[in-house]
Amino acid sequence: MIVQIEESLGERALFDLIGEIEALGFEATQVVTQKQSYIVVTGKGTDDIRAIGHLKGVSDVHSVKDSYQLVSRAWKVKRTTIDLGDGVTIGDGKIAIMAGPCSIEGVDQVDEIASFLAENRVAIMRGGAFKPRSSPYSFQGMGQEGLQMFAEGARAQGLKIITEVLAPQQIESMLPFVDIFQVGARNTQNFTLLQELGKVDKPVLLKRGISGTLEELLQSAEYIFSSGNEKIILCERGIRTFEKAYRNTLDINAIPVLKDKSHLPVVVDPSHGIGIRKFVEPVALAGVVAGADGVLVEIHPVPEEAFSDAAQTLNFKEAQQLFTKIRGLESFNGQSA
Ligand code: PEP
Ligand code: MN
Repeated sequence: MIVQIEESLGERALFDLIGEIEALGFEATQVVTQKQSYIVVTGKGTDDIRAIGHLKGVSDVHSVKDSYQLVSRAWKVKRTTIDLGDGVTIGDGKIAIMAGPCSIEGVDQVDEIASFLAENRVAIMRGGAFKPRSSPYSFQGMGQEGLQMFAEGARAQGLKIITEVLAPQQIESMLPFVDIFQVGARNTQNFTLLQELGKVDKPVLLKRGISGTLEELLQSAEYIFSSGNEKIILCERGIRTFEKAYRNTLDINAIPVLKDKSHLPVVVDPSHGIGIRKFVEPVALAGVVAGADGVLVEIHPVPEEAFSDAAQTLNFKEAQQLFTKIRGLESFNGQSA
């Protein structure tokens, strides 16, 4: 159950309210975000939510039966929009394109891609400076130095950036350079990281775990929200199945289902979703038709030379064609271009 609290409620009255809810047999957790204060009510108390609705200081009560609450659509039918400033938004009806290399590799690479994106009206650049690699001997990313280079190059073109954070202790130094923190598939259930990202006032793009269910993804999102950050974007990036013909199995079903279960925006990552360059475009478009609010895609001036994920990375020509087709679909979906 979610209890919304009257804005004017003082600390003493809030303390009393929590006590009264607990006296009804519930557990009460106070959540304070950038936007509002809530009390999340769990446990087995009275079935009659009116008992809570009548308490002093309560502005609204919502019965949520899911294992996650604040990210559920059961209490918030209006969709969440992520506002990155300067007119850049995610989840407002337009399809957000986030494109860039798997890894940041150097100044020239950043500049070349940033100019390409600006010329093609793409407002958000992706790129990893801290890379989660399966092998400790693979390229691990350019680290903080790479992030600063990335932020400078992207900002020079007026672009926002999204980049992966691997560990809680990286957050503080990354904060001034990042517009969206990406939590990768290997960290979807790193609850300490999620809780720390709940304390920052920057959007978080949360990828689905490699073998994660949608319920687990939403519970992970709940960790971020309940720690204080409402600015969350969900990302379907493919899951591991028995199929070996491609890197992952992009679960198209996840897109409409997540949008039905949650008020958060949902984006699709076709690059990791299939892992094969020539199929990235159709899979990306399928994701958009399925209702994705955005596309996260890997591009590089010379994909064959990319330091990581070369096999799934689009060149500029392929990227341009994809952007055009995505924009064509905005009207198909009844969204405004
Ligand atoms: C990435 O975006 O480059 C990445 C590592 O993604 P994922 O966590 O989905 O594997
Ligand atoms: Mn990658």
